[in-house]
Amino acid sequence: MAFDYDLFVIGGGSGGVRAARVAAATGARVALAEESRYGGTCVIRGCVPKKLMVFASEFPAEMEAAQSYGWTVHAGGFDWTGFRTHLHSELDRLEGIYRNLLKNSGVTTFDARARLSDAHTVALSTGESVTAKHILIATGGRPIRPELPGAEHGIVSDDIFHLEELPKSILVVGGGYIACEFACILNGLGVEVTQYYRGAQILRGFDEEARGLVSEDMIENGIDVRLGTNILDIRAEEGGYVVKPTSGAEKRFDKIFFATGRRPNSGDLGLEELGVRLGRNGQIEVDEYSQTAVPSIYAIGDVTDRVNLTPVAIREGMAFVETVFNGNPTPVDHDLIPTAIFTQPEIGTVGLSEEAARDIEPIEVYCTSFRPMKTAFIGGTGRVLMKLVVSQATRRVLGCHIVAPGAGEMIQMAGIAVKMGATKEDFDRVCAVHPTMSEELVTMKAPMRKS
Ligand code: NDP
Repeated sequence: MAFDYDLFVIGGGSGGVRAARVAAATGARVALAEESRYGGTCVIRGCVPKKLMVFASEFPAEMEAAQSYGWTVHAGGFDWTGFRTHLHSELDRLEGIYRNLLKNSGVTTFDARARLSDAHTVALSTGESVTAKHILIATGGRPIRPELPGAEHGIVSDDIFHLEELPKSILVVGGGYIACEFACILNGLGVEVTQYYRGAQILRGFDEEARGLVSEDMIENGIDVRLGTNILDIRAEEGGYVVKPTSGAEKRFDKIFFATGRRPNSGDLGLEELGVRLGRNGQIEVDEYSQTAVPSIYAIGDVTDRVNLTPVAIREGMAFVETVFNGNPTPVDHDLIPTAIFTQPEIGTVGLSEEAARDIEPIEVYCTSFRPMKTAFIGGTGRVLMKLVVSQATRRVLGCHIVAPGAGEMIQMAGIAVKMGATKEDFDRVCAVHPTMSEELVTMKAPMRKS
């Protein structure tokens, strides 16, 4: 059967665009449909605008520090409207780059919603219908609100970049990546931030010592972190919202921000009718080659809810092309992925937490927590953490956890060593870069504890 295209990609985010471009470079005829903006969550309503907001939010603390370093400076008012305009023009520029990358790669694009009508046919909201030998779903995910009375009053991460004005006070609900990053960002921008998290400590799943330190610093920086707290209901009241929490008295906030998780965008794509299996959370179930139960249909990125990170979606897209278009079956390697949470201070992490590692095998823990030079000089209280979790049997570094300004940059480098299987002794053989915070990673002599 002759198809219109060799590959039809649904979704123009980081994963879909990369897969389309790389497939086109093999000589394949490729088309891509995007119903919203090119660049997807990461570029338009996630990592990129978030990181720019992180930069904006760090200036007040930097300026306070600058005074102690002898500068006559102070952070005046923050011009949210001016920043937002600049932010969106930058996002427009980046979206333009994404469109051009596709065009220059020879990928045909459709600004339309796509739905599968059979295993090789895509129906577009423009009324067109096209066929393809392979179909790749890369439709990402979306933020969800919890089910509780008044939840419709809350905003989600998609909305935060479009606020008309910054609120005076905000309640951030959740304790994951997004909740903690935005609690820090908004606090830095001068918003009075309260954070409710239903569990015992924020950032569940991360190394306990690391999450504890970040939590302490967030509180020290002025965020009112309420653990073991959730919302019973919300009611609107003159320009704000009154929240009834599970513990403590009712409180009024200008805005409520739900960062209570995300769900895969797998609805209304015609998938289940064709026999594509979806998991409990709506994620498309795929094998190690990103292939669904229907052989012509593949899926990558957040819609598969494996590891929901942009660089992972990109790698899944490239492995898909290698498998399908280069005849070289390539499973996606989801092991030892370094990642960072852009809280203040940041967490950079790769491999197993101390708690996860000690459940698997006997370990040694090397760690140190201290006030870095820049902070100590000005009498600041913020501490950093450098930690290695080491296998007693193989000496391999099973996990590396850093809490520090710039931890995201540091963990990228440490991640190379950990991925290569470096032992504690390999770390020790590396000469320190002095004076830095990360030199501690190669100078910790005795284990803090064994378990
Ligand atoms: P997470 O799943 O990380 O966190 C969701 C949080 O909301 C958890 O603390 C969860 O609590 C809480 N929660 C869930 N349901 C409810 C409820 N009904 N009531 C109250 N609290 C609730 O999701 P995020 O939205 O923060 O992030 C999604 C993903 O996006 C991340 O896992 C990550 O992969 C990616 N991401 C990565 C970033 C980065 O690399 N820097 C930045 C932002 C996102 P509990 O712990 O009890 O389940």
